[in-house]
Amino acid sequence: MRIEIKGLEDERFHRPLQNIANLFFEESEILPTIGEKPDLQVDFHWEASETVFARAMLLVNESGKKFESSQELCVSPEMSEKELFKQVKRAVSYVFVNVLQDMTEINQKWGILTGVRPTKLLHRKVQQGIPASIAHKQLADDYMISEEKVELMQKVVDRQLAVVPDLYSLKNEVSIYIGIPFCPTKCAYCTFPAYAINGRQGSVNSFLGGLHYEIREIGKWLKENGINITTIYYGGGTPTSITAEEMDMLYEEMYASFPNVENVREITVEAGRPDTITPEKLEVLLKWNIDRISVNPQSYIQDTLKAIGRHHTVEETIDKFHLSRSMGMNNINMDLIIGLPGEELPEFRTTLEETEKLMPESLTVHTLSFKRASEMTRNKQKYKVASREEVEKMMSAAEEWTAAHGYTPYYLYRQKNILGNLENVGYSIPGQESIYNIMIMEEQQTIIGLGCGASSKFLHPVTGKIMQYANPKDPKSYNDNFEHYTHKKIEILGELFTKENFQH
Ligand code: SF4
Repeated sequence: MRIEIKGLEDERFHRPLQNIANLFFEESEILPTIGEKPDLQVDFHWEASETVFARAMLLVNESGKKFESSQELCVSPEMSEKELFKQVKRAVSYVFVNVLQDMTEINQKWGILTGVRPTKLLHRKVQQGIPASIAHKQLADDYMISEEKVELMQKVVDRQLAVVPDLYSLKNEVSIYIGIPFCPTKCAYCTFPAYAINGRQGSVNSFLGGLHYEIREIGKWLKENGINITTIYYGGGTPTSITAEEMDMLYEEMYASFPNVENVREITVEAGRPDTITPEKLEVLLKWNIDRISVNPQSYIQDTLKAIGRHHTVEETIDKFHLSRSMGMNNINMDLIIGLPGEELPEFRTTLEETEKLMPESLTVHTLSFKRASEMTRNKQKYKVASREEVEKMMSAAEEWTAAHGYTPYYLYRQKNILGNLENVGYSIPGQESIYNIMIMEEQQTIIGLGCGASSKFLHPVTGKIMQYANPKDPKSYNDNFEHYTHKKIEILGELFTKENFQH
């Protein structure tokens, strides 16, 4: 879809408009002037004085149909120029979504929001002391968020504050993410740093050497500066694709190097691929008091697993779940994906029926997203996925099923190119939520990433600004440069965790 836009010379408009166009069309291109005849032409007009006003007129070239929308937003005298421009962008986005909705008859339940973390908006309002009813109205008026999604946001925020009552004052602690970039095989939809482990023992050894170094050095710095850890999360890849012995040494290092590990609120290890779980590895996890794991079926349809390259059977998932349970794992998460190739509502219902037999403590329901780097996106025509309407039905089935089985939503996030422009939602039996997931979504403290592909998020304790710093994704560059990346992180931590920053 080629869309010509007029009346918005400032380039800062183009990206948000492109993000909005992507919500409606699989492939779209926004350009100020298109040489040949564009598919759509949108004329914008905006003014900013006592209020902000924006209008859009859309013309469909083929049919000659026209659509129009206008919007007025209030302006306060204290607004800086930057804030005023933000308000203009919001009004322009608003009218653009409106004309596209009218034209396509697609209703965007998240309105003009294209960001990853909608609940952050509501948290900010809670922190400012804005009463819920006013906050909800603002979300609907300013961002066009539907009542249904505002309600979901409120449920999530309420649950998060019940689980972590001190969420807004955890800036003086950090959480740790540890990335282990190996998996038994690579799944088709995957863009994580994940390398098939077979035949790579040399690379695994060097990688673990680097990781132990990072844990030691960061742990030393945290101890010296009296900073505690809230949560630790092992992800990847699949952190249980290394051997039981390697896992044992890694956790021993964690206990020896990090401060007060016995007081860390939660340690999670993703055992995502059932084909990596063995009694020996479970024993190691239990030995080090790690009792939250993730066993990820994604789907209980065997043909789907084969199509996406997961190379494990449905039975294996069920067997490994029972094995983990019988050995004493009492907080198991399972990940499901809505919209996997070849699946529609009946297949997803089968997956929910199988889930019912296991009743994991938490369930993360993802909606498939086509990420640029995945095999699935590169060969899109090979993978047939459900329509937008069907995906919405599956999502509703997940909502109903979780509510009927005692689960409550406790975190959510959105991704670009997600099917149906929906969201990923983490559900949990109350009291079994993952605190790390809340910390990573709501960005209320610094998260230090160690290992391959691990991205650190440094939160400035005064300004609230977030700075990202990523370790290399491939094991070779990591193995060559881990010392440099460790020291850089320590340098940044030193700049943030100063006495002055914490006197506020
Ligand atoms: S198990 Fe997870 S990390 Fe590993 S290849 Fe599959 S999707 Fe990627």
